[in-house]
Amino acid sequence: MPKSYQENELSSIIRIDESKCKGCDTCKSFCPADAIDGPYGANHRINSERCLQCGQCLVNCPFGAIEDTADVVDQVIEKLQDGKTTVVATVAPAVRVALGEEFGMEPGKLITEQMYGALKQAGFKIMDVNFAADNTILEEGTELIHKIQKYVLQKPVTEELGPLPQFSSCCPAWVRYMELYHPDLRQHLSSAKSPQGMAGPVAKIYGAKEIWKVEPEQIFCVGVYPCTAKKLEASRPEFTAAADYWKKQGHTATYQDTDVVLTTRDLARLLKKLDIDVRNVQPAEEKDNPLAEYTGAGTIFGATGGVMEAALRTAYFVLTGQELADLSYKPVRGLAEVKSAEIPLKLKDGGQEITLKIAVVHGTKNVEPLLAEIKAGKSPYHFIEVMNCPGGCVNGGGQPINPMGTSWTGKFKAILPWS
Ligand code: SF4
Ligand code: SF4
Repeated sequence: MPKSYQENELSSIIRIDESKCKGCDTCKSFCPADAIDGPYGANHRINSERCLQCGQCLVNCPFGAIEDTADVVDQVIEKLQDGKTTVVATVAPAVRVALGEEFGMEPGKLITEQMYGALKQAGFKIMDVNFAADNTILEEGTELIHKIQKYVLQKPVTEELGPLPQFSSCCPAWVRYMELYHPDLRQHLSSAKSPQGMAGPVAKIYGAKEIWKVEPEQIFCVGVYPCTAKKLEASRPEFTAAADYWKKQGHTATYQDTDVVLTTRDLARLLKKLDIDVRNVQPAEEKDNPLAEYTGAGTIFGATGGVMEAALRTAYFVLTGQELADLSYKPVRGLAEVKSAEIPLKLKDGGQEITLKIAVVHGTKNVEPLLAEIKAGKSPYHFIEVMNCPGGCVNGGGQPINPMGTSWTGKFKAILPWS
């Protein structure tokens, strides 16, 4: 396999500590990319050129033998304490559900205000990624609408558009899977940036100018995600939109839109190092944060089907002129590995009726039959959402590890050879 990373990208984020590995094969059973080598009973190794950096092996290793090596906790603390830097935390929805677990709170408890309070006490400015997720869905939904106009309604469209079906592009492990294993289908990926891709430029352009009123070079943007692959995504050389914008205004510096990424586990470690306990902080409300406003569409991005549901609501409203009758769109909810639905639409211009066909997949390997259909020219779908991690970002590789050493979606647990 040729080198699979671009210059300056973070590679080898996920590593097996061979002194702890028992060779039990559990990690292999969770790996969507067949990136783990080693026979049963012997030390295992990750082939980083094949690896998606998703961390599913890490959260599921029963012996705690797998590490996330991209540790920026001390670097972020230094920035928080240097007095010259505006440190902005852009926080994903799934983090505020899981962070409390690292402090002994009940799993699944939503702790938005406590998390904001803890971040403020640590010295962060806050930008909620839900706001950026709304930006993503406007882009992704609009792109889908334009493709429907071009390919389904045969209307003239001037912009360059990839083919249908459109794939969601929010999950960096899925994007890397597509790039590595099915590069011939890359044009099907939505051109919309992920919420992380949106959040960095908003913080360093709009936030620098209008909210914090500092030079963009003074902003250190910290993504906080339930996902180890976000560390790779943030380091991709494509994501320098803020620096590119500011260069046109006479600035010279080059920097990433998101400087570093903390997982949920990393954020908990950072807070503990600063003696901040989310159970005892002064809660801060959403209205205290100028970039914390968002719709319900952004909030559901963290679960399988969430991006699809949000995109559907937008596309349905724009094409029909009416809200989707049931905003909680049940056919894309739940933990079936592949979900599909047909949505009849009566277009507001002319009353023509079309049927939108969609699919939702979680667990990257489950997408293979759908990819084969596309390659055979037989895919019935217009839009397909893929999330790498079983259940979606809520079960990401950066989330708290429960005492069983396995992730919470019990039905996906490996059957251990000795059980
Ligand atoms: S799951 Fe953990 S202990 Fe088992 S083979 Fe993989 S790294 Fe080694
Ligand atoms: S990080 Fe993900 S892709 Fe990489 S070895 Fe682990 S499970 Fe496989």
